[in-house]
Amino acid sequence: MRYAAPTTTSEAATLLAGESGEAFVLAGGTDLLVRMKSMMVEPELVVDVKRIPTMRTIETTADGGFRIGAAVPGIEIGEHEALGRAWPGIVEAAGLIGSDQIQGRCTIVGNVCNASPAADTTPALIAADAQVEIVGPKGRRTLPVAKVATGPGQTSLTKGELVEAIVLPPRPANSGDAYLRFTPRTEMDIAVVGAGVSLTLKDGVVSAARVALGAVAPTAIEVPSAAAAIVGSKLDDGALDALVKACRAACKPIDDRRGTIEYRTEVAGVLAKRAALIAFERAGGIR
Ligand SMILES: Cc1cc2nc3c(=O)[nH]c(=O)nc-3n(C[C@H](O)[C@H](O)[C@H](O)COP(=O)(O)OP(=O)(O)OC[C@H]3O[C@@H](n4cnc5c(N)ncnc54)[C@H](O)[C@@H]3O)c2cc1C
Repeated sequence: MRYAAPTTTSEAATLLAGESGEAFVLAGGTDLLVRMKSMMVEPELVVDVKRIPTMRTIETTADGGFRIGAAVPGIEIGEHEALGRAWPGIVEAAGLIGSDQIQGRCTIVGNVCNASPAADTTPALIAADAQVEIVGPKGRRTLPVAKVATGPGQTSLTKGELVEAIVLPPRPANSGDAYLRFTPRTEMDIAVVGAGVSLTLKDGVVSAARVALGAVAPTAIEVPSAAAAIVGSKLDDGALDALVKACRAACKPIDDRRGTIEYRTEVAGVLAKRAALIAFERAGGIR
């Protein structure tokens, strides 16, 4: 196995595109090294992106959004005050990953690109309408986070492509987001279900919303019908009941030792409702 540590994204893309064997991007390595050590993957080439300066920063964009470099570790996301004020749900999702040791290494782009259906940041990012900036042999392109994973462990990235950053849109006034997950243990466990909600209020009423669920389908899913159920409301009981129903209807979970189909479906509704209430309160809403 060869190891490369380029200092530009285009150099990284050229290395990945030119490798005839299996090649992987290495960000924090908290997924990749586990898979390598258990011989699930045996790369010919590993391209470490932690030395690429454009991937190491969190910046505000010209329109007031945020650009989070693909090599920024969880700990730095948690310490960024402006990001935490604008997108507390994303920051809390990132903060749930692993332990202090994992936080020092793991990235949200690695979380998304690992394409686990239970990845914690993916539902929060989908709810935020986050986009990934991709660099590859044919140039740059932008893709919604929801379109990165195509199935467990599978992504839509083509040979030589890698993600340079995640971009969060500008935040209108009176907006809030939240992410909740259910795990049998309080930490160091993966989600049995995860739910992310982002919403904006106008005159105290929900004027825009996005709802996403994790671990209830082969990829994290956006649930537009759940968002539609709360738009135009002050999260009265009827609107919340409709959100719960829409979330449950969208679930296509697996049955395994961590949770049955029925259990995951039930919990998805409960978590989405709780996340919506937290996001509403963070947006300044009064029921
Ligand atoms: C003890 C432990 C606890 C964990 N707890 C959680 C948890 O609670 N919740 C959770 O969701 N996950 C958890 N994880 C999984 C893991 O930590 C996260 O998925 C993490 O965010 C991965 O980020 P990374 O930077 O370490 O990714 P890496 O391991 O570096 O990469 C992961 C995958 O993404 C690809 N990749 C990385 N960066 C890019 C890029 N820029 N462009 C294209 N492809 C890229 C890699 O090639 C690899 O296939 C845990 C892991 C461990 C070991």
